[in-house]
Amino acid sequence: MNHNLDDVDRKILRELQTDGRASFRDISSRIGVSTPTVSARVQAMTDMGLIRGYTTVLDADLLGQVSVVVTVEAKPSEVERVYSRLVGEDMVRQLYVLSDSRLLLMVSYYNPIKYKQFIESLSQIPEIRSVSTSMVLKTPKEIQRAALTDEAGLLIRCYYCGHLIHDEGVKLKIDGKYHYMCCDVCAKLYKEKYDKLKKSA
Ligand SMILES: [Zn+2]
Repeated sequence: MNHNLDDVDRKILRELQTDGRASFRDISSRIGVSTPTVSARVQAMTDMGLIRGYTTVLDADLLGQVSVVVTVEAKPSEVERVYSRLVGEDMVRQLYVLSDSRLLLMVSYYNPIKYKQFIESLSQIPEIRSVSTSMVLKTPKEIQRAALTDEAGLLIRCYYCGHLIHDEGVKLKIDGKYHYMCCDVCAKLYKEKYDKLKKSA
């Protein structure tokens, strides 16, 4: 079994990234493979966690939203604690953990008072060393972070032990869904655990 994406997978993903509402039949006629193939590939990529969902893309400017790039410097040992406090904030639309114990936040808001309160709340967090903000004036380019060039491969983790699965792995179809394990031992243990959980459910 090979986990790498092939051309058909990439073509399907490109179609879906352009139009998440495209039907399997539309995609099949556009890329020249059968509808069941499209359906099976999408199901497999969903099971693997590569396709995370389908969403509606809105124009933030039309909504009158204001965006600010916020850089936070955390104490080196407290990076995780800081970002776990920030992920739940509605105003934080994107959050990147950078090298040098820094975090980059894309913050968007409508209400300037709430924004000011948020920035002030950051300075109250003892694990944060410094905060800097820059307002976004224009967004000449904004696309999905996942680029589908031919180099795009797949990093799948074993459902049982969590290690990255390299070229060979074990694929089990259980209850109509694919489950991925790194080796036979993990596959056996995973199946046992799965059956046990299912029995107790
Ligand atoms: Zn494993």
